[in-house]
Amino acid sequence: MDCLFCSIVAGEVPSKKVYEDDQILAFYDIDPQAPVHFLVIPKEHIVSPDAIDESNSAIVGHIYAVIAKLSKELGLAKGYRVVCNCGEEGGQTVDHLHFHVLAKRNLAWPPG
Ligand code: 5GP
Ligand code: ZN
Repeated sequence: MDCLFCSIVAGEVPSKKVYEDDQILAFYDIDPQAPVHFLVIPKEHIVSPDAIDESNSAIVGHIYAVIAKLSKELGLAKGYRVVCNCGEEGGQTVDHLHFHVLAKRNLAWPPG
């Protein structure tokens, strides 16, 4: 399967890692949209949030628990935003589930 984020998980494409365990990987975005911008992905290839069902949804809870841990380690007490784009109109460009974590600037609402 030709998937950029699977290649990052496999170490075939380099990334600047923030966190890794047996289930998930966090790494800095190559095109940061905020002073802190990293992605958290399951190592398992899940295409998008629209492919989450009862059989694979536990990973989402684990991802949020790790984000909360990393927010403390990285000094994000003032706040941050977690974004999960889904599909073409949702702004998804890489078809492997990923959660953006953006921080260290005022983030506008509503998003563009
Ligand atoms: P999406 O638009 O699908 O929500 O987010 C995909 C994200 O992946 C974008 O923010 C983009 O900058 C990031 N990205 C694309 N290619 C690479 C890469 O090779 N390495 C890293 N670290 N991030 C990437
Ligand atoms: Zn993948």
